[in-house]
Amino acid sequence: MKHKAIFLDRDGLINDNSTAYYVYKIKDFIINKGVFESLKIFYDKGYKLIIITNQGGIAKNQYSTSDVDRLNEYIKSEFSKKNIIITDIYYCPHHSDISKCLCRKPNSLMLEKAIAQHNIDIQQSFMIGDSDRDVEAAHKLGIQGIKTKSNKNLFDFLINSEYAYLLE
Ligand SMILES: [Mg+2]
Ligand SMILES: [Zn+2]
Repeated sequence: MKHKAIFLDRDGLINDNSTAYYVYKIKDFIINKGVFESLKIFYDKGYKLIIITNQGGIAKNQYSTSDVDRLNEYIKSEFSKKNIIITDIYYCPHHSDISKCLCRKPNSLMLEKAIAQHNIDIQQSFMIGDSDRDVEAAHKLGIQGIKTKSNKNLFDFLINSEYAYLLE
């Protein structure tokens, strides 16, 4: 059986990145308003929640893969406390200034891996992010893309959009 999924960008969507471009410390990880409420509804509606994030700061030696892994475990645990299961987190450690890759959004390799590894039905799935490149990556695979405003209340944004039905 195939599963529906909501793919989520991380920085600027799930967490506030208005004060630091690269967020890699747990103490700097502030979850944006409306995120818990929205993801709880998605999860309860049967969507798998999969984070797809560019972490080019690794290629730029701003932080390490272990920083990202530690933060990702923290994120999963914070959501799990609210009875929201994050199925998986994919990140691209590259940066186009340093070396080209196929995973950094707007490329779609992270999404392709997630779709294959978790048996996702793309027709019933969405990608939500605050950048054009999030939507572009989704569109490359025929997945609906929803571009939000950075660091704003996700629930309020969605409920006032054409995607309000996702919360109903
Ligand atoms: Mg973002
Ligand atoms: Zn990459």
